[in-house]
Amino acid sequence: MSEEPRDLHTEIVPVTPEAPEPEAIERAAAVLRRGGLVAFPTETVYGLGADALNPQAVLRIFAVKGRPADNPLIVHVAGKEQLCEVARAIPEPAWALVERFWPGPLTLVLPRHERVPQETTGGLETVAVRMPDSAIALALIRALGRPIAAPSANLSGRPSPTAAEHVYEDLCGRIELILDGGPTRIGVESTVLDLTTSPPTILRPGGVSPEQLRPILGELRLRAEILEARRSPGTRYRHYRPRAEVVLIERWEEVKHRPLVEQLAASVHRLGYIGRERGLSFGNAEAHVVELPPDPQEYARRLFAIFRELDQRGVEVIIIEGVVETDLGLAVMDRLRRAASRVL
Ligand code: AMP
Ligand code: MG
Repeated sequence: MSEEPRDLHTEIVPVTPEAPEPEAIERAAAVLRRGGLVAFPTETVYGLGADALNPQAVLRIFAVKGRPADNPLIVHVAGKEQLCEVARAIPEPAWALVERFWPGPLTLVLPRHERVPQETTGGLETVAVRMPDSAIALALIRALGRPIAAPSANLSGRPSPTAAEHVYEDLCGRIELILDGGPTRIGVESTVLDLTTSPPTILRPGGVSPEQLRPILGELRLRAEILEARRSPGTRYRHYRPRAEVVLIERWEEVKHRPLVEQLAASVHRLGYIGRERGLSFGNAEAHVVELPPDPQEYARRLFAIFRELDQRGVEVIIIEGVVETDLGLAVMDRLRRAASRVL
């Protein structure tokens, strides 16, 4: 956990998502110009923004989040033409992808333009860049007149924020301003696609699915780590974790889930369950049952908020039933596996 002091006044400024008020955007841009930090909504999750070309400002992002310095940030641009300002040697498929998916939840990893400081790219010679599909985010980038580096606006390791309240909970007193544009539409982060490998590699599943990318790219790889996570999940590093311990039951039908649920329930006072099974027995434990959202889109949109809500209710263990990995289901399962301390 970061040792960063919490002595700033964190201002919350409401903004209308479809038609952001220019005064609000200008206040936020002024903070960024001074090297300060602003949290703002995108269509995926809330981002913690700094001027991407100002190394001192970018270093503060790492400090307030408690983020390891070698975990690079995504650079947000306001238009397709801005891609050339932050990346170089841009291969042909990049333009087709940008044409099809920008603005939207697709981040491209490309060779870094020398203007982008290595603080932003975590010391790498590549840069991750995307154009968010949010009028607030785009207005802010345009008002600053420079690209904005922004990871998710949570403390490192915690569930990503999908509402301004989540940002406030994690970063109150550590950042200057939060633009509150209400809950985010997609709810999981962007897909990170590395175009410096052949074939291109999905480094992180997200808002754009492999099914959507394949028609444009043809061959496509999933990073070995994502495949590995299917077998030995949650072991690599802490990410997306609520305070409660997460037990993910992927093979719901194969695992003898009833006795398992009873056994876990017997070990705690309060238990959370996210799934579709009815009539489970939770013994004397106070059970907080969340019905499995009906489709992967809605699950993605609600997942991190459900985690935070169950934390607020003081749940000690959350049992989760796995979902099918098509469409946004791949991104949902990726987050669930990383959040889990046990997978069955
Ligand atoms: P976050 O913004 O916190 O959701 O995380 C950004 C994600 O993009 C992380 O998984 C980073 O490791 C990844 N990323 C950012 N820049 C690069 C890069 N140059 N190469 C590979 N991955 C990157
Ligand atoms: Mg993050």
